[in-house]
Amino acid sequence: MADKRDYYEVLGVDKNADDAAIKKAYRQLAKKYHPDTNPGNAEAEAKFKEASEAYAVLSDAEKRRQYDQFGHAAFEGGGAGGAGGFDFSDMGDIFGDLFGDFFGGGRRHSAANNGPRKGANIRVGVRVTFEEACFGTTKEIEVTLKDECTTCNGSGAKAGSSPVTCSKCGGKGQVVYTQQSLFGMVRNVQTCPDCGGKGKVIKDKCPDCRGTGYISSRKKIQVTIPAGIDDGMSVRIAGKGEPGINGGPRGELLVQVSVMRHPIFQRDGYDLYSTAPISFAQAALGGDVRISTIDGEVLFNIKPGTQTDTRIRLRGKGVPSLRNKSTRGDHYVTLVVQVPEKLTSEQIDALKAFDAAMGGTTEESKTSENKGEEPKKEGKSKKKKGFFS
Ligand SMILES: [Zn+2]
Ligand SMILES: [Zn+2]
Repeated sequence: MADKRDYYEVLGVDKNADDAAIKKAYRQLAKKYHPDTNPGNAEAEAKFKEASEAYAVLSDAEKRRQYDQFGHAAFEGGGAGGAGGFDFSDMGDIFGDLFGDFFGGGRRHSAANNGPRKGANIRVGVRVTFEEACFGTTKEIEVTLKDECTTCNGSGAKAGSSPVTCSKCGGKGQVVYTQQSLFGMVRNVQTCPDCGGKGKVIKDKCPDCRGTGYISSRKKIQVTIPAGIDDGMSVRIAGKGEPGINGGPRGELLVQVSVMRHPIFQRDGYDLYSTAPISFAQAALGGDVRISTIDGEVLFNIKPGTQTDTRIRLRGKGVPSLRNKSTRGDHYVTLVVQVPEKLTSEQIDALKAFDAAMGGTTEESKTSENKGEEPKKEGKSKKKKGFFS
């Protein structure tokens, strides 16, 4: 024990490192040296153990305080654990916490638990329109929920009978065996395979729930979709998930929102984008133009000589913020000058007059009327000849 390395040194962090830095450092080391990724490598195993021990101490405020004060002596001489005088019994939780399913079995240890556990979450999807997502709405969704069977009060046993104590685990719901591991002999606890952790088995099953203790039924649930929600986000509803185990609370219902596309508006965060057509006359003369927003049409005054692709900002006409409805993003509108495609003869004359007034830009206005028409006729007759010959 004399040559034990300093915990901060082991993790490669500063003495003043915060929890996040310690966690990060340990995560990297644990991934690098984890026995699953280094099978049969004794050195990696030792490093992994060393880093795990350092992390177990430094991640716990009270243990860290003791360590800072007394060094390794703080944990020597009275330790409940094995080899290093250190108790690794709660490392399973740390792994579950840090890695989730990363090592494909991190949760296995904590699952062997006969105490109350929260039920699993249920995930469903709901579609809302673009406007509903912007301003919030209420949706009714149908979910299949399990409820305690009223016939057997959740016991799963037929009326007049009751579940009997499981003979495999003696009612504990867990089976214990010892195993040699890198931390020494370890007591391994597993959920009893016979009773599934309940500690009791049912001989005569309740006919209504077939012994499960639960009845499934379709339930209608009102979901409040908050203003500002974006595509892919979920609304959490507590207590509408799967029933808890051994008296634990129900899981959550997670309603994932998919937002339909809008024909005019595109959304980016809380800002909106759209294009709006304006006429050539409006662009040239300026004045009020009508622009569609999610609040309806608004009038926006553009200056004379507005060019096509000019982008304007409608402040506060974007999407309300999820946190605070009264804070809204902006709406950016790109103004596109429209060129008319079909013109009446009056409109053509007006445009020609306008063009002449501007100094004349068309070829037609530069040549005489007669000369201007002749080439057209020639061209047409030539084409016809070519077609029929
Ligand atoms: Zn029942
Ligand atoms: Zn059992």
